[in-house]
Amino acid sequence: MLDLIIIGAGPAGMSACLYASRAGLDVLILDGSAPGGKLNVTAQIENYPGLKPTPGPEIAFTMYESAMNFGAKMAYEEALDIKDHGDYKEVITAKQTYQAKYVLIATGTKERQMNLEKENELVGRGISYCAVCDGPFFKEQDVAVIGGGNSALEEAMYLATLCHKVHLVVRRDVFRADKVIQDRLSKVENIEVHFKRKPKEILEQNQKVCGLLIENSDDQTTEELKVNGIFPFIGLDPMTQCAKSLNIVSENGYIDANENMETAVKGIFVAGDVRNKQLRQVVTATNDGAIAGQYIASLK
Ligand code: NDP
Repeated sequence: MLDLIIIGAGPAGMSACLYASRAGLDVLILDGSAPGGKLNVTAQIENYPGLKPTPGPEIAFTMYESAMNFGAKMAYEEALDIKDHGDYKEVITAKQTYQAKYVLIATGTKERQMNLEKENELVGRGISYCAVCDGPFFKEQDVAVIGGGNSALEEAMYLATLCHKVHLVVRRDVFRADKVIQDRLSKVENIEVHFKRKPKEILEQNQKVCGLLIENSDDQTTEELKVNGIFPFIGLDPMTQCAKSLNIVSENGYIDANENMETAVKGIFVAGDVRNKQLRQVVTATNDGAIAGQYIASLK
């Protein structure tokens, strides 16, 4: 039996893996995708202490190297369910069932959808939730970014380096993003901000996005933006599917923990963006992971 299974190889999971395996625990880290989580879709990280502005995927790679440096194993499998058997736990994937004394949930969050008609069928045909991955397909074209938070503004600025024009559609008359990011955005000439506008309808031709209808929230009039790409960055939803049967997901969808990252179920821990907390950043995710990894190691 393993000592610890970590579900999710983002900054929280990898940090926990580093601390726990370095302290001698037999650790398996599970993730259906490449290690790094949201780092892999972030153009530049500029607020991780001690690091110069660095592309997210580069940090993901070095974090993975240090996480695996002390004998931990990684399996590219998605955890579907967790069973609590008291002094041991089971993690079920599509391929097999793993057993461990402790489980750490570090599954993070996923991008929220606009829930507009045709949104799903046009993913990869003009709708994208990842500017770093798909931005180059829209070189010299016009695109729309939806949202007024840090993600929307940062991704709009990244897209503005590639695209002819970026329409930024914000539902209120103010941004939610940090002031430093707003100031930077105001200097980018090929971004047009549309305040008090909501996306209303995706326009499509030959199964590809050809425009976006936006609605004025004051008078409900509509306007068509002629764009080939639409990038919604309207918030994040916690990924807690694998924890559903444990009954630890709180009303707002996130998982509560104490300062040692212990959930209400003994031996089950949570770290990173999926934890109920105020500030979701790479640095707070690695912080959670370090605390969890070290604390779990102290229990052995
Ligand atoms: P946020 O929740 O911060 O912002 C979401 C934005 O989308 C808000 O402007 C919100 O409007 C808008 N919105 C929500 N729902 C809709 C909708 N249905 N239609 C139109 N607009 C909508 O999400 P982010 O993904 O930007 O950020 C998530 C977390 O990650 C935050 O804590 C953020 O600070 C952090 N982050 C930090 C970064 C950094 O520090 N460099 C970079 C990226 C993210 P309203 O304001 O009206 O609610």
